[in-house]
Amino acid sequence: MSVSGSKVVVIGAGVVGAALADELTERGWSDVTVVDAGPIPHTGGSTTHAPGLVFQAGPSRMMTELATYTVQKLGGLEHEEGPCFLPVGGLEVATSPDRLAELHRRAGWLAAHGIEARILTPQECVAHHDLLDPAIVLGGLFNPTDGIAKAVRAVDVQTRRAASRGATLLPGTEVTGVLVEDGRVVGVSTTRGDLPAEIVVCCAGIWGRKVAAMVGLDLPLTPLEHQLVGTTPVAAQEGQSVELRRPILRHQGEDLYYRDDFDRQMIGSYAHRPMPLDVAQFDDWGGEVMPSVRPFTPDDFEGPWKQSQALLPSLRDAEVDSGINGLFSFTTDGGPLVGESPDVRGFWVAEAVWVTHSAGVGRAVAELLVDGASTTDMHDAALARFERHQLGPAYVLERDQQNFVEVYDVLHPLQPMESPRPLRRSPFHQRQSELDGFFLEASGWERPQWYGANQAALAAYEAAGRAVPRPGEWASRYWSPIAGAEAMATRERVAMYDMTALKRIEVVGRSATAFLQGLVSGNVGGSVGSVTYCLLLDPRGRIRSDITVTRLPAAPGRQRYQIGANGNLDLAYLQALAPADVFVHDITPGTCCIGLWGPAARDLVQSVSGDDFSNEGVKYFRAIEAHVGMVPVTAMRLSYVGELGWELYTSADLGMKLWDTLWLAGREHGVSAAGRAAFTSLRLEKGYRSFGSDMTWDHNPYEAGLGFAVRMSKDDFVGRAALAELDPAAVSQKLVCLTSTDPLAVVMGKEPVFADGTAVGHVTSAAWGFTVQLAIAYAWVPAALAEPGTELSIGYFDRQLPYVVTQEPLFDPAMTRLRG
Ligand SMILES: Cc1cc2nc3c(=O)[nH]c(=O)nc-3n(C[C@H](O)[C@H](O)[C@H](O)COP(=O)(O)OP(=O)(O)OC[C@H]3O[C@@H](n4cnc5c(N)ncnc54)[C@H](O)[C@@H]3O)c2cc1C
Repeated sequence: MSVSGSKVVVIGAGVVGAALADELTERGWSDVTVVDAGPIPHTGGSTTHAPGLVFQAGPSRMMTELATYTVQKLGGLEHEEGPCFLPVGGLEVATSPDRLAELHRRAGWLAAHGIEARILTPQECVAHHDLLDPAIVLGGLFNPTDGIAKAVRAVDVQTRRAASRGATLLPGTEVTGVLVEDGRVVGVSTTRGDLPAEIVVCCAGIWGRKVAAMVGLDLPLTPLEHQLVGTTPVAAQEGQSVELRRPILRHQGEDLYYRDDFDRQMIGSYAHRPMPLDVAQFDDWGGEVMPSVRPFTPDDFEGPWKQSQALLPSLRDAEVDSGINGLFSFTTDGGPLVGESPDVRGFWVAEAVWVTHSAGVGRAVAELLVDGASTTDMHDAALARFERHQLGPAYVLERDQQNFVEVYDVLHPLQPMESPRPLRRSPFHQRQSELDGFFLEASGWERPQWYGANQAALAAYEAAGRAVPRPGEWASRYWSPIAGAEAMATRERVAMYDMTALKRIEVVGRSATAFLQGLVSGNVGGSVGSVTYCLLLDPRGRIRSDITVTRLPAAPGRQRYQIGANGNLDLAYLQALAPADVFVHDITPGTCCIGLWGPAARDLVQSVSGDDFSNEGVKYFRAIEAHVGMVPVTAMRLSYVGELGWELYTSADLGMKLWDTLWLAGREHGVSAAGRAAFTSLRLEKGYRSFGSDMTWDHNPYEAGLGFAVRMSKDDFVGRAALAELDPAAVSQKLVCLTSTDPLAVVMGKEPVFADGTAVGHVTSAAWGFTVQLAIAYAWVPAALAEPGTELSIGYFDRQLPYVVTQEPLFDPAMTRLRG
């Protein structure tokens, strides 16, 4: 059979490719071809043998939203064999106090999403799932809207629906190459001939890495084996003629899950050694065994079988009847991989997606292709989010295996990866270690959270009767009261912060100004030395990122800027759009930065510099090229902590010299080293937002309180037209500052916010404010509840903590500290 060209070729008719084809054709893109090496719908990929458990509780809003859409969509799809979704509910049980606490936290995530899930007593758990042993279960989390996705039915319905709208299905057709001309996809080669296309989307599941390599793209993804077992009939289920009577069940403390299979149980286990595979060896789509299945290794199931019999005593009279080691993909940060290749236009991937999130991802990719923006904020899944080192084969293999091990673990929001560390060290690392820095990890960088050497300063503060309250048990993990001493040192004297981990991008070229002016919300066409805080917006006027743009001296005919950005997504965005005469590159690894902040910052820096650091010499939001001792620096007068001071940038080789120069001179001024914990506290006191937690691609500048960063009087920029349609005063939701006087009320972020018992929003960032002596939580709430004085509460584990909306910023609203 010969094949003809299409606008879009989807590689893979698993549950992801099928969802995408359906969503694309629903939006009128009917010129779509779905190619699969196996038969459709039983392709032999991971979807074919997935038991289909859909638990919607997820640590990120993106994951929960993708899952919720999948439930909603599959719930409306009927196949001739039956429904595509069986809403039997989902029960997660705890057999330890820690896990029970975690279930409360998970219930909070669901509540923040408007999903009502309940914490159950052991007896209530058994009432829902009669096979459970009430003697070992301490409680459960029940979500009535969870259930089983019948994944193969969903593939069948969605691919047939796509075909009925004009899509072509090509089963038994393997893609052997991707055709590229002038950096653009022009089609694919298949075992049945070439197939021209403008867009190719790789939905090849565990084969994603192999297919992406056809265009030279490294996907940080590893297929790992995962055991799925079927038991012999279970006496307590005798005569069960319906497929599922009980809710789907998770026993995360032992890395296990369960579902009914008529009169048997099906058991999934992550409680075994990681077993990664190179899929290049497993592509026999014509064989008897599915290519995504490996032989069962019974030894790996011995422990999980005992644990299963302990949780579900009826299994003691049953046996393991069948088992597979099925394969599916893990990634370095546990998230899916969605987006266009930065190097080959028109080559997209939708990879490492569970059945649970499949319809949500299908919708998002279709929206991105058709409309250029998705309903769900997909920045956590973006393909371009990885740093270079995160794409290396050794790193990928180690992290992906670790994510398999930790898939059900209770992870603290600040918990750093344990290995591979240390990876990236700033030039200050040796000095920080000498000061007994407690390091967490940020984009691979070792970053001090606080310094043990400041213990004496803490003791002195407390001896003087000054309060450094301790938050509760959860909030005080990866935290130390020393952060209080560091915060006070910043407010009262001067402190040095390592800002090296923040992404720095240089933009230089003959039309650099024009290029940036077309993208950013502020005016960056000012004089050399101007610093502008502004936003990158999407065409809908939503915030892609917030950046500081500093204009620096450049060769004649060129303009040069340094951008303080939020990560690789900003770099990839700018690089993708830059014209030929503008060079955009990452200067982060070769440079470093000390934030020198506090009332004595000027005295300190001036004592080691012949340059003019006075208010006239370098005004607030201006930058100069200067020397600190012998070290050439770019000094930008701005501060994320709300104090007088500078971000001092230099090249990595001179970093240690810069640290030593400031440290030595700083003795006279009482300088401290200070870590990220103090930084976060000070930033929240000042009301400064952090992209990714406080605002994301979901929010417009007016809702986020960032209208001041938008110059509507400027010529056109991306997002301007959409903002022009908005009334800045008429927003439906708002980012607000909530406070409490109770140190035990300090939360971590992502908790639900309630008004009169109804969930109305969620927390973004939180900390204890040492200067204002308040627990601070920024949160999204409906605009009607944003008035200062409004009483709300935050759901924290099993408690409701009273908070009140408070006028922001809490500290120095007149900006006297910064401008002095
Ligand atoms: C044992 C097991 C249990 C699981 N349980 C659950 C669960 O309970 N809940 C849940 O949400 N998830 C579960 N998963 C995960 C889930 O099954 C997968 O993440 C999901 O099915 C992946 O879908 P996909 O469409 O990306 O990949 P696949 O279903 O693997 O589809 C990829 C398709 O691409 C085709 N293909 C690959 N290369 C080529 C090529 N070169 N040319 C043409 N075609 C190609 C393959 O034939 C295949 O059909 C489980 C996985 C396993 C293994």
